Amino acid sequence: MVPLTYIRSIVIRGFGRGSRELGCPTANVDNINHLTIPTGIYCGLAQIVVRSASEVQQDPNYPDAYKDVISKLPYTTEVKGMVCSFGFNPHYENTERSLEVHILDNLGFDFYGAELRVLICEKMRDEKKYESLEALKQDIANDICYAKSVTVNFQHHVFNSNYFLKP
Ligand code: ADP
Ligand code: MG
Repeated sequence: MVPLTYIRSIVIRGFGRGSRELGCPTANVDNINHLTIPTGIYCGLAQIVVRSASEVQQDPNYPDAYKDVISKLPYTTEVKGMVCSFGFNPHYENTERSLEVHILDNLGFDFYGAELRVLICEKMRDEKKYESLEALKQDIANDICYAKSVTVNFQHHVFNSNYFLKP
């Protein structure tokens, strides 16, 4: 069992591979150096929190690169199921760990610069190196299918915790 792990951070730009190569957008999250969980594929819950443009403009810790986009984002507080990969993406041989979160819903908009609150609830498997992109895509499809079937069981955390912004 993996202990519940909570991460709260800004969505940053990655290599753009998720949507383009894999057909599965993954929100890349900043500030993960402190994470002590093993690398792997996990599922849980995520909430996109859009702070007001005026609040962000005055925040010295908020990255300048994202200050302009925030005012264009739709306001949402719904907590949704997510599947994520945490690690080196062996297929791409990254040299640094990344946390990439796929929200299990068709959102239809980008949310770079928004805050993402992520609750990791269950480890699904280890990371793998693949023979082909097709094999990787097949595993992603299986992971999404499994995650959709279990994340409904995590919804009690939405009400019984302070992890998420209340609607
Ligand atoms: P990047 O390499 O910049 O992370 P991706 O191709 O992985 O690019 O796309 C990720 C971006 O797509 C996210 O940062 C977010 O703004 C957007 N996006 C749209 N829908 C989703 C979704 N369901 N899950 C995750 N990200 C999504
Ligand atoms: Mg990504």
